[in-house]
Amino acid sequence: MKDNQERIIDYMRISVTDRCNLRCVYCMPEEGIACMSHNEILSFEEIYQVALAAKEIGVRKIKLTGGEPLVRANIVKLISMLKNEAYMEQVTITTNGILLKEMAKDLKKAGLTAANISLDTLDRETFSKITRRGNLSDVLDGMKACMEEGIPIKINCVPVREFNEDQIVEIAKLAKDDPIAVRFIEMMPIGYGKQYDPISNDEILALLESVYGKARRSQTVYGNGPAVYYEFEGFQKGIGFISAVSHEFCSSCNRVRLTSDGILKLCLHHKQGIDLREKLREGISQEELSKVLRDAIVKKPISHQFHKGQIDDEETRSMVQIGG
Ligand code: SAM
Ligand code: SF4
Repeated sequence: MKDNQERIIDYMRISVTDRCNLRCVYCMPEEGIACMSHNEILSFEEIYQVALAAKEIGVRKIKLTGGEPLVRANIVKLISMLKNEAYMEQVTITTNGILLKEMAKDLKKAGLTAANISLDTLDRETFSKITRRGNLSDVLDGMKACMEEGIPIKINCVPVREFNEDQIVEIAKLAKDDPIAVRFIEMMPIGYGKQYDPISNDEILALLESVYGKARRSQTVYGNGPAVYYEFEGFQKGIGFISAVSHEFCSSCNRVRLTSDGILKLCLHHKQGIDLREKLREGISQEELSKVLRDAIVKKPISHQFHKGQIDDEETRSMVQIGG
């Protein structure tokens, strides 16, 4: 469907949990997190109902996120329900990769279309500093397992001045050595991310060009998102830049979000949302649910307001609570 700005909305990011097996500094505090109870988060049946209603109004692609989606019990079953029963064109995940090694085979069998793996550094110590727990080798093994199973992967890297500035060139090299697209995501001033010094994507492109030579703007589209890709000579895949802050892409935004507790969110930066859990538990029909989605999506905010500082409707929850 189209919203009031004539944007086609065909993509839903669904957070399946607010829990995570890592504690990345820009996303979660180290201790003292009150996670939602089992009853507060949507069941698989409820997520399935929302997905079917969303499909009715034109959503074709679903990304499962969190928290860490692979820590949700039986996530493989949900992927299969969305792919093989709801017949979504694409069911993808964004994951920290820690559990991929053991799960890649089952994920492939369930019909997972692709995986985005978050990886900010290839240095073991820096990895521990950023994620506060977890082993880099688990992520590297997980990437390998996906490639062996034939699950296409992309790497998402969030560059932060005080942590991984010296890793950017190495991370980009993954797209040279393997068929892995690498995307640099500008840190957004959301939740714990506000405390850190982001590195703009223009600066990263200049750095990569100084090492790998002049890049060409690519026409290839590697995913559903707002990334702008560049091709470097001798690289197997492109290098993408997701520049929400320095190059706002809201005019082509194609997505809405569902939080793990069932709030339909129309924009990451705006608090505004519709409580679908309440409606689902009151027994809303599929037809009514599609209408609720349609009526909400049509009024999707025009853009985020990162440059305005504080806004009235600003989202105050952290990335892990919203679903990144
Ligand atoms: N746990 C999964 C993962 O790490 O991929 C999925 C959830 S995580 C919140 C999704 C993505 O959001 C990760 O790539 C993470 O680096 C990114 N992220 C978290 N906080 C961010 C922020 N303030 N700005 C930009 N990206 C952020
Ligand atoms: Fe967990 Fe992903 Fe947040 Fe890191 S970015 S703490 S892996 S949810």
